[in-house]
Amino acid sequence: MTTKVFSALMFGLSAIKIEIEVDLNKGKPGCSIIGLPSRAVAEAKERFTSALQNSGIRIRSKKTVINLAPAGVKKTDNNFDLAMAVALLEAYGEISVSDATTLWLGELSLTGQLRPIRGLLALVLAAKKLGFAKVVFPSCQKKEVEFVDSIALYPADSLTQIISLDKTGSSLAKLKPTIFLDKALGRNTYSQLDLSLIAGQKRAKRALEISAAGGHSLLLVGPPGSGKSELAKTLATILPPLSIEMALEISTLHSLNNVLSDGLSLSPPFRSPHHSISYAGLVGGGESLKPGEISLAHRGVLFLDELLEFNRTTLEALRQPLEDGTITISRLAGQVKYPAQFTLLATTNPCPCGVAGSANGICSCNPTSLEKYKQKLSGPVLDRIDLQIRVEKIPQKVLVTDYANFEENSKTVLSRVTKARAYQAQRFSKTKFNLNADLRSVFVKKYCPLNNKAEDFFLKASQKFNLTARSHFKILTVARTIADLAESEQIEVPHLAEALSYRLEW
Ligand SMILES: [Zn+2]
Repeated sequence: MTTKVFSALMFGLSAIKIEIEVDLNKGKPGCSIIGLPSRAVAEAKERFTSALQNSGIRIRSKKTVINLAPAGVKKTDNNFDLAMAVALLEAYGEISVSDATTLWLGELSLTGQLRPIRGLLALVLAAKKLGFAKVVFPSCQKKEVEFVDSIALYPADSLTQIISLDKTGSSLAKLKPTIFLDKALGRNTYSQLDLSLIAGQKRAKRALEISAAGGHSLLLVGPPGSGKSELAKTLATILPPLSIEMALEISTLHSLNNVLSDGLSLSPPFRSPHHSISYAGLVGGGESLKPGEISLAHRGVLFLDELLEFNRTTLEALRQPLEDGTITISRLAGQVKYPAQFTLLATTNPCPCGVAGSANGICSCNPTSLEKYKQKLSGPVLDRIDLQIRVEKIPQKVLVTDYANFEENSKTVLSRVTKARAYQAQRFSKTKFNLNADLRSVFVKKYCPLNNKAEDFFLKASQKFNLTARSHFKILTVARTIADLAESEQIEVPHLAEALSYRLEW
């Protein structure tokens, strides 16, 4: 007797329907899984055999063949445990609950409990397109899909529960979708940080505001103890919340990497990987071609603290996404493309000893190591960073006197950022761009026009500083954001001058 049950897996951002056939035959008793299973999937037979036995089912001593189709797709995830167990139960004639419109998802424990899987949200959102009308999934992942109303969702706890359905004639309880907005409002992940908790640092705070408003990448250069990491982290407090559409897009991406235990959030991603991160961890890859940190930071911030501590090859990998906002990962298993449009936020010491160019302290680095240090930085990314500023240690005097004074808080800055973003939304309403930093060179002329006075000023500055073509465009987009913050339709000379001041001399 042959039975058919359906499951699915994600390959990059595409969902693939997997058909699971079970055939019981006369012959040498045993169970084999065919159809390009990975090692983890092949081991599933041990899991579901135990799970079935522990759920009170006798394993029939027959030749059992489980076929996963299409055979050409490598089955790398543990999504199919439940579907395989259900198919087997149907082949045994124990239950009859499945049909062609039910998608079964979940890993099984040895006791028959359902365990979470990667990519649930992505799979649930794609289920309708794959021709399904119902999804049975692990109830421990309810939070991840609680607001999805496009398809009927049935959370299940265990295999025993599924088996009893047929016996008792009952059915699984359908999940009632939650209204998304109610859940997400009022959640603030970064409540312990605020710009007002940092004394002075006016220029760095201004750069953070410009970065948040226009999505511009930012490098903070300063000696140890200048508070550059602390400053960098406060960028998270002045980023406007995501739209529902964007939150969905991002959560889908995140679900491909891991289980979303916190459910959905409207806070833009703020990812800060450690410098020991592997290439695959940052860029994406591995057997299941998971998205890496740069894709998890999509529409948010990728924070690389102590940039030069990162492996050079790893840094080189940032080039493509910084240019076109996507990353292509090629492995033996195939090729996938993920979005990776993030704001790069980084900090670094000015030199190996940490005090070069600083007013207090003399640099003790030798010229060769200094040169090497700068080369490491300038090669892959420096030219692609829009805002580069120096951060100095705050003198004790300021800490004592100024700190007592009122410092502008994140909420006030956020309201200006939100306004500047609204101008950009209007400007780019009929384009694929969101923020000024997304503009590519050909569009800069169209969206960042200069009047005669500004053009004259910029020409002279370009010659004086010997700007590269890329710097030229970057300065124009930053000036556009500064003008947006000033609520000015035109880019004026002061906006350009300020934008120019964020290019460091190295
Ligand atoms: Zn030094």
